[in-house]
Amino acid sequence: MPEIANLFLLLADALLYFAVLAGLFRARHWLGIGAFFCALGVMHFIETYLASILYVQLPFGIVASPGSSVLFTGKLMLLLLVYIREDARIVRQPIYGLLIGNLLMVALAALMRSHELIPLGPDRIADFGFVDEMGALMVWGTALLFADCILIILLYEHSRRWLSDRILMRLALAGAVVMTFDQIGFYLGLRLLTGAPVSVLVGGWAAKMGAVAIYSVLVGSYLRWLERPVHQWSGAASVADVFDLLTYRERYEDLLARTGRDALTGTFDRGRLESQGRRAVGQAVGAGRAVSLLLVDIDHFKGFNDRFGHATGDAVIQRIARKIMVTVRATDLVFRFGGEEFVVICDGLEGVAALALGERIRCEIAASIDGAGSGVTASIGIATAPADCVDYDALFQAADRRLYEAKAAGRNCVIGDRADAPETVPRFARS
Ligand code: GH3
Ligand code: MG
Ligand code: MG
Repeated sequence: MPEIANLFLLLADALLYFAVLAGLFRARHWLGIGAFFCALGVMHFIETYLASILYVQLPFGIVASPGSSVLFTGKLMLLLLVYIREDARIVRQPIYGLLIGNLLMVALAALMRSHELIPLGPDRIADFGFVDEMGALMVWGTALLFADCILIILLYEHSRRWLSDRILMRLALAGAVVMTFDQIGFYLGLRLLTGAPVSVLVGGWAAKMGAVAIYSVLVGSYLRWLERPVHQWSGAASVADVFDLLTYRERYEDLLARTGRDALTGTFDRGRLESQGRRAVGQAVGAGRAVSLLLVDIDHFKGFNDRFGHATGDAVIQRIARKIMVTVRATDLVFRFGGEEFVVICDGLEGVAALALGERIRCEIAASIDGAGSGVTASIGIATAPADCVDYDALFQAADRRLYEAKAAGRNCVIGDRADAPETVPRFARS
């Protein structure tokens, strides 16, 4: 079956094309990115030539051009890779270079035909018809590439909203939409110049979609396995992977997201409490939902520091923050309010449920033994809107009052609003 053989040959074309060019891109740190761009430019000429002349039969009656399906799609996906690993400033270099280079070629061809030409032999006469056709197609192709590139980067960026860090799907979606747009545009030019039949439009589109799928996997694998940043994130491997895949802008956004984080514990910091915490309470109250504020304070921590030193104390603060973060619901907000004090804001959590959550946090903290082999406990004060009050400051003060009550009651206990609590729920809990 020649159709099947052609399919495998196209796959081999794509693998060879990607392996060499991605290899050059990977080597940019010691070879310079110019090597990659030059190779891409050489491919640009051959792909336009092939797209106007070389077609192969694939299964299901599809007629496709290796030039536009393998090489053109590959080039666009590689340019997206350049954008992801570098930035928009770098990726515009080959796009402008190709467009201006093609215009220069057409202009030079126009000048050269006005020379007095001497044929080298009977069969060696300059074929200006070919040069004109190629030049027109290449200018049209690079004008499209210009639009394609902007579109694919915008789509890739915007798809982050719907697909978050699912890079493979984002690559495939951006590639598929842009190559559909490109196929229609390139076919119109081709039809005008060569009268290509409609089957070329449909076959070319199907082949480009196949190529997008293959290149998405290749680019995704490259990002996953081949290019880890030099500045490795020292946290868990899964976090490092996520950071690996971030684009320049995503990194910037991530940096913005991480400002407002407490450096020791990774919880939100006090500044965020003032903005985000206050807003969360306001929104919940405005929407008529219950919202609880938990104030957690480690017991006798000054004494702990005095006995074991501040470094051990820091490790305890970190562990307690982690305990709180894994115990609360995914939608709850955890802030480090001060040295060994944390605030948790739970949207949608009414008094009794908040008391139960506070009790779970207290138990988790009391159950963990710190590095110095000594147990550390915490006291928790809880206030709930609208049961206690409806304003953030009053809510905080109510929780603070109850925290003091908890300290006065002997520490290692939780005090919240128990007006509507059934008898089985204690006013405060203590182990
Ligand atoms: P209690 O809350 O039970 O009344 O007693 P406490 O000893 O914890 O009292 P307080 O909350 O007033 O003191 C907090 C202590 O926490 C003071 C300081 O030694 C310690 N601390 C505050 N911030 C840090 C920090 O970032 N690292 C360490 N290691 N210790 C801190
Ligand atoms: Mg304190
Ligand atoms: Mg304390």
